[in-house]
Amino acid sequence: MLIKRLSGSSRGSRGRGAPVVATQASAVLDRRSFLARSGLAAGGLAGLSALGFTSMRKAQAAAGFDAKAPVKLVKNICTHCSVGCTVTAEVQNGVWVGQEPAWDSPINRGTHCAKGAAIREIVHGDRRLKYPLKLVNGEYQRISWEQALSEISAKMMEIRAKSGPESVWWLGSAKFSNEGAYLFRKMGAFWGTNSVDHQARICHSTTVAGVANTWGYGAQTNSYNDIRNAKTAIIMGGNPAEAHPVSLQHVLTGKELNRANLIVIDPRLTRTAAHATEYVRIRSGTDIPVIYGMLWHIFENGWEDKKFIEQRVYAMDDVRAEVKKWDPKTVEDVTGVPGEQLKRVAELFAKERPSTLIWCMGATQHTVGTANVRAYCILLLATGNVGAPGTGANIFRGHTNVQGATDLGVDVVTLPLYYGLDDNAWKHWARVWDVDFNWLDSRFDKKPGPNNTTINFRTVPGIPSTRWFDAVSLPKDQVDQNDNLKAAIVFGHGGNTVPRIPEMTKGLAALDLLVVADPHPTNFVSLGGRKNGTYLLPISTQLECSGSRTASNRSIQWGEKIVEPIFESANDYWVIYKLAEKLGFADKMFKNIKMVKGKFGDEPEAESILREINRGGWSTGYCGQSPERIKAHMANQGKFDVRTLRSPSDGSEISGDYYGLPWPCWGTPEMKHPGTPILYNTNLHVKDGGGAFRARFGVERVVKVKVQENGAEVEKERKDNLLAEGSYSLGSDLKDGYPEFTLAVLQKLGWDSELTAEERAIIEKSGPSWSTDLSGGIQRVAIAHGCVPFGNAKARANAWNLPDPVPVHREPIYTPRVDLVAKYPTRPDFKSFRVPNIGFSVQKAAVDKGIAKEFPMILSSGRLVEYEGGGEETRSNKWLAELQQDMFVEINPRDAAERGIAEGQFVWVYGPESSSKIRVKALVTERVGKGVAWMPFHFGGWYQGADQRGNYPKGTDPIVLGESVNTVTTYGFDPVTAMHEGKVTLCQIKAA
Ligand code: SF4
Repeated sequence: MLIKRLSGSSRGSRGRGAPVVATQASAVLDRRSFLARSGLAAGGLAGLSALGFTSMRKAQAAAGFDAKAPVKLVKNICTHCSVGCTVTAEVQNGVWVGQEPAWDSPINRGTHCAKGAAIREIVHGDRRLKYPLKLVNGEYQRISWEQALSEISAKMMEIRAKSGPESVWWLGSAKFSNEGAYLFRKMGAFWGTNSVDHQARICHSTTVAGVANTWGYGAQTNSYNDIRNAKTAIIMGGNPAEAHPVSLQHVLTGKELNRANLIVIDPRLTRTAAHATEYVRIRSGTDIPVIYGMLWHIFENGWEDKKFIEQRVYAMDDVRAEVKKWDPKTVEDVTGVPGEQLKRVAELFAKERPSTLIWCMGATQHTVGTANVRAYCILLLATGNVGAPGTGANIFRGHTNVQGATDLGVDVVTLPLYYGLDDNAWKHWARVWDVDFNWLDSRFDKKPGPNNTTINFRTVPGIPSTRWFDAVSLPKDQVDQNDNLKAAIVFGHGGNTVPRIPEMTKGLAALDLLVVADPHPTNFVSLGGRKNGTYLLPISTQLECSGSRTASNRSIQWGEKIVEPIFESANDYWVIYKLAEKLGFADKMFKNIKMVKGKFGDEPEAESILREINRGGWSTGYCGQSPERIKAHMANQGKFDVRTLRSPSDGSEISGDYYGLPWPCWGTPEMKHPGTPILYNTNLHVKDGGGAFRARFGVERVVKVKVQENGAEVEKERKDNLLAEGSYSLGSDLKDGYPEFTLAVLQKLGWDSELTAEERAIIEKSGPSWSTDLSGGIQRVAIAHGCVPFGNAKARANAWNLPDPVPVHREPIYTPRVDLVAKYPTRPDFKSFRVPNIGFSVQKAAVDKGIAKEFPMILSSGRLVEYEGGGEETRSNKWLAELQQDMFVEINPRDAAERGIAEGQFVWVYGPESSSKIRVKALVTERVGKGVAWMPFHFGGWYQGADQRGNYPKGTDPIVLGESVNTVTTYGFDPVTAMHEGKVTLCQIKAA
């Protein structure tokens, strides 16, 4: 958290980083001189001269500012991470004049980190895009919105006619409100492509796949607040002290009040690890052996929760067989963790319960990301630590609304709310959208498939954010669609967020059309290489836009527009609406969404969009959170308990609700379901937020087994029960496992008579399932009987549909332990997400060529407290820019000494692909072990030693520029999600 600096003696924000600052700045600078030197003052003046007539008039209006005008307090949500801290803005004369962290928010309770405290600047910042720009022969020209949208849509239609709709790629944002995310995904559907992705691909796509395939939903099971209830917490591959600072108040309060064990498992001694009762240093990329090392002790000593496993877990025995291979000696050899330490940690986790496992991108950004997540879940299941206070998978997500944007389907594998891409899903949304299914189908490309079949791209996952440039650059016959990608429409997403930037720049240059819609130009622009066909659209921040956001814990919060979009910027809703209009389908897309008067004319109303989401959001319980209910929560934040998130049952409009109505919030808003603060919690009635594991994978699994019969081995079929046994949520009329609810299930139970005639009529039209019934009747009746609409099943230790049904260790593509590759190779080459994944060939070539000798250091990356994501927005914020002025690499003192590298000097970091290299400052520190280097990933604007400041449109360059770590990161993708390998590659470091 931000600590007020009382003395001017220490300027560096990162301990031993202080001299780095002094060296680079060549003198001791105060804030004023830093800003002057960084060009802020000049930029400010330049910005003024470029504002044009409209903005100059605004400045005159400010001169007439009425200091006695009443101050209005407006609540919105910090846009920088998923904790969801409320910002209380003070607005006077339509100007945002002051801010406070909301004191009564149960999430942040009067605190903000540096980014939240400095957030007003992202609205007022003079480095924002001020009006639409078009790149003409390498120069940016100011154009009108009308011209920009007309030209963009015309080019898109030209590409569609020539190459088909799949050649336009849509990259959305975790910064969208829920309503913006939903419209963006809907836009992709109406355009005719599933290539609609966002940041979740590169932060938690593997989490979503891993946890959803284990117990039903791809989300955090508990909440930041609930960590206060844990007696043991393991944080593995996460550094909330920097990435989610305010969450740490809940973690540390729990630690203090419960005398809880706080164990940090990480390759790097992070600022979070500094608070730990035990720190476990591991070799990057060995999460599965570490987890199995713990399970080895747990199973050997009988510390597992046998009753929980018996009632609620499927196929734990399959895991036992794999775990047996990971005895302490083997684990120590592979991971570097001493057996005794792991035994101690395992015992605490299994015995000092409730225990929670917290993870972040250290777990997920791997070629084995989904398998890592599955291993974490299995540890929780084995110890009975899911579905109760103080337990669970507390998955800290990245941006403000990465959970919501994922939920709303800005994801290449699904329509909104995880309905998938099959005909049932499309028919459901066609009904909700009130459009003809056949018309939607006609929007998509078709292609001849094998054996006289037809591939309908409506049902095919799209191209993810980690592979888009391959789909531009690869030979056409290697990309499984009718043509390569030709256009990228990017809303609110950085360009430096995925590895292999040298390859990315080639794809960028080859696009016919690039649209960057963002408050800032982003690294897509600074990388240069384009002369024409680029449009920059100034989008307002979410602080200038009303709508809901879903925090990491699934609570939905309403953010109120603080001020009108500044300069000529416009909100997402209006821009998407106008683009749809130009593309010819706005009448269909917005037919049931109310229009209100906005800055530039009619724009879709956020409340109305949320109501449409409610009408279709049965599968995930996004159906009960009406705008009125969420707004009432924001108005009454102080009433919610900080530990349980529940409000008192006092008969008020929020009576008995959990804060933010965390999904699933079942039924219609009128049903007043309180939300579900802890998923799969059988200790509560489903009416009070209780649940069970989801019956998502059927009721039975047929397994072929070999048995001895009459002295001979024969193959037989075994039928495994997938439903829970003897476990059910409190008050359930069914005292055992049960399947998903359908009309047929209700009929079988004799409960269908409880449906109203109106509900029956709707069910007849909309489909007989709890997730497609647009009346909500099936959910209502199931819940009246204490049953969870999605059924009551076992969680899966064996997820048979995944490439590795039981997780197995696989060495990173680039590993220093080449001796382990033969035993633990990465998966064979295959095609996924329409492009080849040649990880196996790359790993083999790296071993054959002896890459580990030339590039002997492990390189990992992570987040800083001062910046966020790709960093353009936060590096343009003068208050944050002051705190962290240099891109750097952490290097162990012994590695530095061997290379003659001194603290603070420039070094070259070389990557093993594409002759890549970056020039950064050295931060010599014991935080990283010998042989390990670490860099933050928020920098951009330098490329392989060259300053790219001149590539930004005048006045929009961020204050702080630096090399992107992803210039030197390398190949490697998770087989399930195409998550990149962001945490382990190899590098060499030399003095510059
Ligand atoms: Fe809170 Fe996260 Fe914003 Fe910091 S960045 S104030 S922790 S929401």
